[in-house]
Amino acid sequence: MKIVKEGDKNKAVCQFCGLQSITYALRDVPFSDNNGVVRNILAGICDKCDNVVSIPRQSTPKIKAAYNEVKRSAEYRVPAHFIDILSLASNRIDDEIGDTLSKPLLLYYLHKLNTGVISSSRLKELLASELASAPSTKRLSLKITERTEKELSSVVQKSGLQNNTDVIKGIILKIYEDIVQPKTPKHIKELKSIAATFG
Ligand SMILES: [Zn+2]
Repeated sequence: MKIVKEGDKNKAVCQFCGLQSITYALRDVPFSDNNGVVRNILAGICDKCDNVVSIPRQSTPKIKAAYNEVKRSAEYRVPAHFIDILSLASNRIDDEIGDTLSKPLLLYYLHKLNTGVISSSRLKELLASELASAPSTKRLSLKITERTEKELSSVVQKSGLQNNTDVIKGIILKIYEDIVQPKTPKHIKELKSIAATFG
Protein backbone atom coordinates (compact mmCIF):
# COMPACT_ATOMS: atom_id res chain seq x y z
CA MET A 1 0.00 0.00 0.00
CA LYS A 2 1.26 3.44 -0.91
CA ILE A 3 1.31 5.74 2.11
CA VAL A 4 0.36 9.34 1.39
CA LYS A 5 1.43 12.39 3.43
CA GLU A 6 -0.38 15.60 4.25
CA GLY A 7 0.26 17.98 1.34
CA ASP A 8 0.91 15.22 -1.25
CA LYS A 9 -0.63 15.76 -4.68
CA ASN A 10 -2.48 13.29 -6.88
CA LYS A 11 -5.11 13.17 -9.61
CA ALA A 12 -8.65 11.85 -9.12
CA VAL A 13 -12.13 12.20 -10.52
CA CYS A 14 -14.18 14.75 -8.56
CA GLN A 15 -17.93 14.22 -8.83
CA PHE A 16 -18.39 17.95 -9.44
CA CYS A 17 -15.34 18.90 -11.51
CA GLY A 18 -14.27 15.70 -13.29
CA LEU A 19 -10.57 14.76 -13.44
CA GLN A 20 -8.75 17.16 -11.17
CA SER A 21 -5.58 17.53 -9.19
CA ILE A 22 -6.13 16.78 -5.50
CA THR A 23 -4.16 17.53 -2.35
CA TYR A 24 -4.14 15.30 0.75
CA ALA A 25 -5.25 17.17 3.87
CA LEU A 26 -6.87 16.42 7.23
CA ARG A 27 -10.66 16.53 7.14
CA ASP A 28 -13.70 15.37 9.10
CA VAL A 29 -15.42 12.90 6.80
CA PRO A 30 -19.06 11.79 7.30
CA PHE A 31 -19.89 8.06 7.07
CA SER A 32 -21.67 7.02 3.92
CA ASP A 33 -24.81 6.28 5.98
CA ASN A 34 -24.53 9.77 7.59
CA ASN A 35 -24.63 8.19 11.03
CA GLY A 36 -21.57 10.06 12.24
CA VAL A 37 -18.19 11.37 11.15
CA VAL A 38 -14.58 10.32 11.28
CA ARG A 39 -12.54 13.21 12.57
CA ASN A 40 -9.21 14.34 11.22
CA ILE A 41 -8.31 11.75 8.66
CA LEU A 42 -6.18 12.25 5.59
CA ALA A 43 -8.43 12.73 2.58
CA GLY A 44 -7.84 13.73 -1.02
CA ILE A 45 -9.33 17.21 -1.55
CA CYS A 46 -10.27 18.56 -4.97
CA ASP A 47 -8.02 21.55 -5.71
CA LYS A 48 -10.83 23.27 -7.60
CA CYS A 49 -13.95 22.88 -5.38
CA ASP A 50 -12.46 21.83 -2.02
CA ASN A 51 -14.67 18.72 -1.67
CA VAL A 52 -13.43 15.34 -0.45
CA VAL A 53 -12.75 13.27 -3.55
CA SER A 54 -10.94 10.22 -2.23
CA ILE A 55 -9.92 8.56 1.00
CA PRO A 56 -6.54 6.82 0.99
CA ARG A 57 -6.52 3.15 2.00
CA GLN A 58 -4.33 3.94 5.02
CA SER A 59 -7.32 5.73 6.62
CA THR A 60 -9.53 2.61 6.58
CA PRO A 61 -8.68 1.38 10.11
CA LYS A 62 -9.51 4.81 11.55
CA ILE A 63 -12.83 4.86 9.69
CA LYS A 64 -13.71 1.37 10.93
CA ALA A 65 -12.81 2.26 14.52
CA ALA A 66 -14.85 5.45 14.41
CA TYR A 67 -17.81 3.63 12.87
CA ASN A 68 -17.77 1.01 15.58
CA GLU A 69 -17.63 3.76 18.21
CA VAL A 70 -21.07 4.97 17.20
CA LYS A 71 -23.35 3.66 19.89
CA ARG A 72 -27.07 3.31 20.02
CA SER A 73 -29.08 3.23 23.21
CA ALA A 74 -30.78 -0.05 23.88
CA GLU A 75 -33.18 -0.90 26.69
CA TYR A 76 -34.21 -4.27 27.99
CA ARG A 77 -36.92 -4.86 30.55
CA VAL A 78 -35.86 -7.42 33.13
CA PRO A 79 -36.97 -8.54 36.61
CA ALA A 80 -35.43 -6.48 39.41
CA HIS A 81 -33.32 -9.33 40.77
CA PHE A 82 -31.64 -9.72 37.35
CA ILE A 83 -29.97 -6.34 37.86
CA ASP A 84 -28.76 -7.55 41.26
CA ILE A 85 -27.36 -10.75 39.75
CA LEU A 86 -25.38 -8.75 37.23
CA SER A 87 -24.06 -6.48 39.93
CA LEU A 88 -23.15 -9.37 42.25
CA ALA A 89 -21.32 -11.18 39.45
CA SER A 90 -19.38 -8.07 38.43
CA ASN A 91 -18.34 -7.40 42.01
CA ARG A 92 -17.35 -10.99 42.46
CA ILE A 93 -14.96 -10.77 39.53
CA ASP A 94 -13.49 -7.42 40.56
CA ASP A 95 -14.85 -5.56 43.56
CA GLU A 96 -12.84 -2.43 42.75
CA ILE A 97 -14.50 -1.64 39.44
CA GLY A 98 -17.66 -3.58 40.29
CA ASP A 99 -20.67 -2.59 38.18
CA THR A 100 -18.45 -1.15 35.44
CA LEU A 101 -17.96 -4.76 34.47
CA SER A 102 -21.67 -5.48 33.90
CA LYS A 103 -21.66 -4.58 30.23
CA PRO A 104 -18.35 -6.28 29.33
CA LEU A 105 -19.61 -9.34 31.16
CA LEU A 106 -22.81 -9.42 29.10
CA LEU A 107 -20.83 -8.93 25.90
CA TYR A 108 -18.39 -11.69 26.89
CA TYR A 109 -21.26 -14.15 27.23
CA LEU A 110 -22.99 -12.87 24.12
CA HIS A 111 -19.83 -13.58 22.15
CA LYS A 112 -19.48 -17.05 23.64
CA LEU A 113 -23.08 -17.80 22.66
CA ASN A 114 -22.59 -16.49 19.17
CA THR A 115 -19.50 -18.62 18.65
CA GLY A 116 -21.22 -21.67 20.12
CA VAL A 117 -18.89 -22.03 23.13
CA ILE A 118 -21.99 -21.73 25.32
CA SER A 119 -25.04 -23.58 24.07
CA SER A 120 -28.17 -21.58 23.52
CA SER A 121 -30.32 -24.56 24.53
CA ARG A 122 -29.12 -24.00 28.11
CA LEU A 123 -30.44 -20.45 27.84
CA LYS A 124 -33.87 -21.75 26.94
CA GLU A 125 -33.87 -24.07 29.97
CA LEU A 126 -32.79 -21.24 32.26
CA LEU A 127 -35.50 -18.94 30.91
CA ALA A 128 -38.08 -21.58 31.84
CA SER A 129 -36.66 -21.94 35.36
CA GLU A 130 -38.19 -20.76 38.61
CA LEU A 131 -35.62 -17.97 38.99
CA ALA A 132 -36.84 -16.43 35.74
CA SER A 133 -40.47 -16.21 36.72
CA ALA A 134 -40.97 -12.65 37.89
CA PRO A 135 -42.40 -9.53 36.25
CA SER A 136 -39.94 -7.50 34.18
CA THR A 137 -40.22 -4.25 36.08
CA LYS A 138 -36.70 -2.83 35.72
CA ARG A 139 -34.93 -1.28 32.77
CA LEU A 140 -31.45 -2.32 31.80
CA SER A 141 -29.99 0.41 29.59
CA LEU A 142 -26.94 -0.22 27.47
CA LYS A 143 -25.08 1.78 24.87
CA ILE A 144 -24.29 -0.76 22.21
CA THR A 145 -22.39 -0.69 18.96
CA GLU A 146 -23.58 -2.01 15.63
CA ARG A 147 -21.31 -4.99 16.13
CA THR A 148 -23.13 -5.91 19.34
CA GLU A 149 -26.50 -5.44 17.64
CA LYS A 150 -25.39 -7.88 14.95
CA GLU A 151 -24.24 -10.42 17.51
CA LEU A 152 -27.56 -10.14 19.34
CA SER A 153 -29.65 -10.75 16.23
CA SER A 154 -27.37 -13.59 15.22
CA VAL A 155 -27.88 -15.26 18.62
CA VAL A 156 -31.66 -14.71 18.40
CA GLN A 157 -31.66 -16.51 15.04
CA LYS A 158 -29.40 -19.36 16.09
CA SER A 159 -31.04 -19.99 19.44
CA GLY A 160 -34.69 -19.79 18.53
CA LEU A 161 -35.18 -17.39 21.43
CA GLN A 162 -37.87 -14.78 20.89
CA ASN A 163 -35.93 -11.52 20.88
CA ASN A 164 -32.91 -9.57 22.14
CA THR A 165 -34.46 -9.17 25.59
CA ASP A 166 -34.73 -12.93 26.01
CA VAL A 167 -31.09 -13.33 25.01
CA ILE A 168 -30.05 -10.73 27.60
CA LYS A 169 -32.24 -12.35 30.26
CA GLY A 170 -30.90 -15.80 29.44
CA ILE A 171 -27.33 -14.53 29.65
CA ILE A 172 -27.96 -13.03 33.09
CA LEU A 173 -29.33 -16.35 34.32
CA LYS A 174 -26.30 -18.11 32.86
CA ILE A 175 -24.08 -15.59 34.65
CA TYR A 176 -25.87 -16.48 37.88
CA GLU A 177 -25.19 -20.16 37.25
CA ASP A 178 -21.54 -19.62 36.27
CA ILE A 179 -20.34 -16.72 38.39
CA VAL A 180 -22.62 -16.08 41.36
CA GLN A 181 -23.61 -19.61 42.41
CA PRO A 182 -20.41 -21.69 42.31
CA LYS A 183 -17.69 -21.59 44.94
CA THR A 184 -15.18 -20.78 42.25
CA PRO A 185 -16.68 -18.70 39.43
CA LYS A 186 -16.26 -20.03 35.90
CA HIS A 187 -13.89 -18.31 33.45
CA ILE A 188 -12.57 -16.34 36.42
CA LYS A 189 -9.01 -16.00 35.12
CA GLU A 190 -10.14 -14.71 31.77
CA LEU A 191 -12.72 -12.38 33.31
CA LYS A 192 -10.23 -10.97 35.80
CA SER A 193 -7.86 -10.12 32.98
CA ILE A 194 -10.69 -8.43 31.09
CA ALA A 195 -11.42 -6.42 34.27
CA ALA A 196 -7.75 -5.47 34.47
CA THR A 197 -7.97 -3.72 31.09
CA PHE A 198 -10.28 -1.10 32.62
CA GLY A 199 -7.91 1.68 33.63
ZN1 LIG B 1 -14.10 19.37 -7.45
